[in-house]
Amino acid sequence: MSPFYTAAKHMLRTPDGPSVGYMCEFVPVELIVAVGATPYRMCTGLQETTFSAEEYLPQTFCPLIKSTMGAYGEKPPFDLVVIPATCDGRKHLGELYSDDVNVHMMDVPITGETVHARMLWMKEVQRLRKALQSTFDKKITAKGLKRAILEENGRRELMAQLLEQRKGDLTLSGSDLMLVALMSRYMDVDRWSKAVNVLIASGSKRKTRKEGRTDRSGPRILLTGAPVILPNWKIPLLIEESGGALVLDSLCSGTRTMWQTAEPSGWSIQEMMIAMADRQMMSLCPCQIPFDAAWARIRTVIEDFQIDGIIHHVLQSCHPFGVEATLMRRRMEELDVPLLSLETDYSQEDVEQLRTRIEAFIEMLEGRSNR
Ligand code: SF4
Ligand code: SF4
Repeated sequence: MSPFYTAAKHMLRTPDGPSVGYMCEFVPVELIVAVGATPYRMCTGLQETTFSAEEYLPQTFCPLIKSTMGAYGEKPPFDLVVIPATCDGRKHLGELYSDDVNVHMMDVPITGETVHARMLWMKEVQRLRKALQSTFDKKITAKGLKRAILEENGRRELMAQLLEQRKGDLTLSGSDLMLVALMSRYMDVDRWSKAVNVLIASGSKRKTRKEGRTDRSGPRILLTGAPVILPNWKIPLLIEESGGALVLDSLCSGTRTMWQTAEPSGWSIQEMMIAMADRQMMSLCPCQIPFDAAWARIRTVIEDFQIDGIIHHVLQSCHPFGVEATLMRRRMEELDVPLLSLETDYSQEDVEQLRTRIEAFIEMLEGRSNR
């Protein structure tokens, strides 16, 4: 894991050279790579920067937005900042930045299901391509875009192999898995892929020797909900410290958007743009309704990965994930799989309270498995 730990230490170091800060997984990073710039996911999990942001933002704002605004100040050091307008916080962040920074907002349709929504989103992806070309005064070519799509698809295929190993005994902790996924947004593709290949090979060896589950044999947990960004790692760590086997996450900061590759029907610019737009529409984020597509995915994960219980993470003041918690609870009752919903922020003050609730949940799951 050392390449990932090292990358995590330097996560806040913004890239040298042409770069684009982006704030959400709706952004097709392949376009940024194809224009010759480095994509950099701007979301942060620092508590201290939430305080400095309160100079510009209401105290009650989502901690992720406050932390990000505080971390980069009013002038983030990127050639372009791309913000999909998925929730109120992001819309207003774009507005605040736009006086001093080159900002490109993307309109995200409220649903991913209709033809109209798909067309609207396709136009947004085209608009982003134009904005990138004009910012860097460089044309995105079919050859460059194909290379970027294949590279990013390669990452997702490797992640799929790593996830496949989690259907049985675990050879890698869930918090490490989440770190590997998060670092895919900060490490270049070669360095990240090399390190993931090592993990896959060592996972296969340990499985052959049946060394996998020994220290991770508690109830199997799926973590869903709002993004978890370093250094705010309290939820995954608390799950593991409380005896839970964190099998995987379904967070946009983790593995949720790494399931799907972009699959163009051909290699013309138009075909590739459609494939990227379609892939991004499957981000399964509650900022888009309805919840059914996300639920279908979660249901499959519960079955395939033998999940005993779900922990749902809600960031304070975040309405999309707050509503998703209620929808999840209703569906989970039908499935008879327990769910614990936790609302928190970036502070450490509630750690012991969270620990008590997580420990009680895991004990309850253990009791169910002994019935
Ligand atoms: S939760 Fe949704 S809106 Fe927020 S960053 Fe993730 S994909 Fe984007
Ligand atoms: S956590 Fe919720 S409120 Fe915060 S940026 Fe994401 S969707 Fe918006």
